[in-house]
Amino acid sequence: MTDRFTGSFTQQEPIPEDAIAAAVEVMRHGRLHRYNTAPGEISETARLEAEFAAFTGARYCLAVASGGYALACALRCLGVAPGDPVLTNAFTLAPVPGAIASLGAHPVFVEVTETLVIDLDHLATQIAASGARVLLLSHMRGHICDMDRLMMLCDAAGVRVIEDCAHTMGASWGGVPSGRHGVLGCYSTQTYKHLNSGEGGLIVGDDADLMARAVLLSGSYMLYDRHDAAPPATAFEGLRLDVPNVSGRMDNLRAAILRVQLRALPDRVARWTRLYAAMERGLHGTPGLRLIGSPPQATHVGSSFQFLLPGWEGARIQTLLGACAARGVELKWFGAARPSGFTSRYDHWHYADPAPLPRTDRVLAELLDMRLPLTFTPQDCAQIARIIRDEVQRA
Ligand SMILES: *Cc1c(COP(=O)(O)O)cnc(C)c1O
Repeated sequence: MTDRFTGSFTQQEPIPEDAIAAAVEVMRHGRLHRYNTAPGEISETARLEAEFAAFTGARYCLAVASGGYALACALRCLGVAPGDPVLTNAFTLAPVPGAIASLGAHPVFVEVTETLVIDLDHLATQIAASGARVLLLSHMRGHICDMDRLMMLCDAAGVRVIEDCAHTMGASWGGVPSGRHGVLGCYSTQTYKHLNSGEGGLIVGDDADLMARAVLLSGSYMLYDRHDAAPPATAFEGLRLDVPNVSGRMDNLRAAILRVQLRALPDRVARWTRLYAAMERGLHGTPGLRLIGSPPQATHVGSSFQFLLPGWEGARIQTLLGACAARGVELKWFGAARPSGFTSRYDHWHYADPAPLPRTDRVLAELLDMRLPLTFTPQDCAQIARIIRDEVQRA
């Protein structure tokens, strides 16, 4: 008899009861818009920003409508203009090149390594070849590159770094929270990320000018004094009439449920670490399968799991996917010819007119991926690993 996994790879945990209560309170008073405050009241959104700034150690924080909005807003803050080249990872998800394209700028893709991080040698080549002055660095699937080397390289070349931390909220490199190496850090609070408000995003940074721009861009209607984690009014003086309003604010309902979840984030990270470790234990030593691993400087949030099947042909991988799916294990493959669901690849983004990247092609053709929602237990992960190990040996 072969066992079958019956859990759902897309089922997140419910919103905690105290977060529901906080949301109900906002609905009872009806002041959902962040600037709709009673006299002396500090909005849920402003409170969330102050709490997230403290969580990351950033001076300033802005809550916005989505992770993708956060990325585009950060690029605008840095003055990225139509036609500008912007460096980014070839291995990332569609909202990253999409944010670059939304400004009329042009993504310049950088190769990925076998450990799923940006290839720093190729980054140096692409900086020189493109003349780009901004890198939108995506910590895709939580894998963090050597941030010390990356920052040294970018600083020396005059390239400013925006970090896409959609998969690294709660992670760190060398003891520094992810999102705090670059000039701006962007996060997503979309349902499949580390905090869940359906949609939502956060931007953090220490630079008063950049963060004042971000606040004005998000649509602050000159009410920036109602922020608790924004730069002082003087930072807005020279900007307030020059920065357009590109509305993308967060609302108090989402902020209310995020504030409660943020307090539980360290616990969530610890639980993801246990799920990830159970997967690693279960798959360790499987012939034909390579685990990714992570360097000692990184604390990694294991909200998803990846592995490589080096040298496997596409047809054999398809067989494995079918066999695993039949046993309830939903694997995503980055090598498929057509994008499906969330899994698209750089050469599917035709608007960016991407040049071929042989190393990335090789890695993605062998790369399998799955979510590890917190509704799974370590026992579930052990069972999933057993099924994959079985089917890898059979395929
Ligand atoms: C989810 C995600 C984003 C932002 O997405 P939104 O859905 O706009 O919140 C950005 N980058 C990566 C890698 C993501 O997975």
